[in-house]
Amino acid sequence: MNHSQTEQLLAAFGAFFPDAPGVGSYIDGRLVPGTGAPVPLHNPATGAHWLDYADAGADQVAQAAAAAEAGQKAWAALSHAARGRVMQDVARAVRAQVEPLALLESLSAGKPIRDCRGEVAKVAEMLEYYAGWTDKFHGEVIPVPSGHLNYTRREACGVVLIITPWNAPIFTCGWNVAPAIAMGNAVLLKPSELTALSSLAFAAIAERAGLPRGVINVLAGFGHTTGQAAIAQRAVKKVVFIGSPATGGRIAQAAAQRGVPCVLELGGKSANIVFEDADLVRAAIGAQAAIFAGAGQSCVAGSRLLVQRSVYDRFVAMVAEGARRLRTGDPQSPDTEVGPIQNARQYGHVMAMIQSGIRDGAEVAEGSDGERREGGYYVRPTVLKNVRNDMDVARTEIFGPVVVAIPFDTEEEAIAIANDSDFGLAGAVWTQDVARAHRMAAAVRAGTFWINTYKVINVASPFGGYDASGYGRSSGVEALHEYTQVKSVWVETASSPAAAFGYAPGVGN
Ligand code: NAD
Repeated sequence: MNHSQTEQLLAAFGAFFPDAPGVGSYIDGRLVPGTGAPVPLHNPATGAHWLDYADAGADQVAQAAAAAEAGQKAWAALSHAARGRVMQDVARAVRAQVEPLALLESLSAGKPIRDCRGEVAKVAEMLEYYAGWTDKFHGEVIPVPSGHLNYTRREACGVVLIITPWNAPIFTCGWNVAPAIAMGNAVLLKPSELTALSSLAFAAIAERAGLPRGVINVLAGFGHTTGQAAIAQRAVKKVVFIGSPATGGRIAQAAAQRGVPCVLELGGKSANIVFEDADLVRAAIGAQAAIFAGAGQSCVAGSRLLVQRSVYDRFVAMVAEGARRLRTGDPQSPDTEVGPIQNARQYGHVMAMIQSGIRDGAEVAEGSDGERREGGYYVRPTVLKNVRNDMDVARTEIFGPVVVAIPFDTEEEAIAIANDSDFGLAGAVWTQDVARAHRMAAAVRAGTFWINTYKVINVASPFGGYDASGYGRSSGVEALHEYTQVKSVWVETASSPAAAFGYAPGVGN
């Protein structure tokens, strides 16, 4: 254990929990030490062991579920507009604490501090956006063909379990918690065991800003223990999962046993398609941002770069040159553009994937040869060229700063390669031909598609996957459908039983 590194992490955490004995779970308005298995935390920037904390045991998961049930009743009892006002207060509190939250996120997730500042500010934006929806998403009156009044009510699901990954902890927390609470739900949030700290801090900030106790409970712990125990809680009426396809399948299966619906936001292998008529300088900058931002640990990363053959060599050289110039290093340095991989396991996976690509015949145009090195989980931004779409490196999600460049000749071939994937999360095209751009947008199977840009997302716009990238939508107005249930209410308006039922039963004769 490196004491000075551990002290730095605990000081950043202690900014939110000055009296806390250490890392634990946030249950019913209190940070409590876990009662389950030890979870080791390591510094992604150095590889040094930071500390161990205990994950939330089954007893604590049950307590959190009970607290959430009680919190949900208190929260749903407020008027819709009052809930919106509280959410605005929470947004202001988050904005006021961008710096300490960003530092905590940067340390524990290993993400560049400048990215973390932006992501925390986005969380405030998510809260503001959904605060505006609290009193605008409601039922309707339906003109049924009888004398009845029929109307619908949009009701909260109840307690929602949200399970998030390690690559964007505070962002995925806000992205899903904001629409959930806007609709009157309470939340059990199970962040990745590796990056729970910013979510714990968020829950405390929200409560101090006026959110009732128990509306957000954060269960820090492993998926197979804490996560599974949470899915089994009777109080949980919906599961929202953001993570890998394999885990998503296990979670959907466990939820299905209880008849509980899921939203699954899974991985991707998105095609970023560059035609010869594109503005190649902009496209090269876009291609770098698409894969190297967040060290490639992004579900929407443009990890397959499809380039028209006539400009393939030139364009790949441009992207390689850009990759060489990116500033990789200490996440807390204000200049750093690419940080380390978050954890040792993922680091091993990225390096193994590079080696598999080289074995299959890909060439390293720039970056890592797949050899592991000591001292932090850093991977140099890597461009692999002469890749075929049937190679493993083009089919498996790498989730690191590694782009595979695949040549194509025609528009039809580009579409065929783009769609020859298990995934369908995102895609992009770079071209100056407007008609072609829209043909591509229609033809590529993906939940998000960009034209002459990449990676822009916003809480106001729907986001989600096709195929193995998952189902359900987690932002925009579409998310509100996921976080509510519809009740149909029928009211008799006929003046007599005979008119109502078509006959008059003998009751009361
Ligand atoms: P992961 O699937 O390993 O873990 C995600 C979460 O699930 C963690 O909180 C983990 O503790 C929990 N978990 C694991 N096993 C569980 C189980 N049996 N029961 C309950 N919970 C369990 O994913 P990861 O490695 O943390 O994240 C990387 C993956 O997330 C990538 O595939 C990436 O594409 C995906 N991702 C998707 C989106 C999206 O919106 N589509 C966003 C970010 C990340």
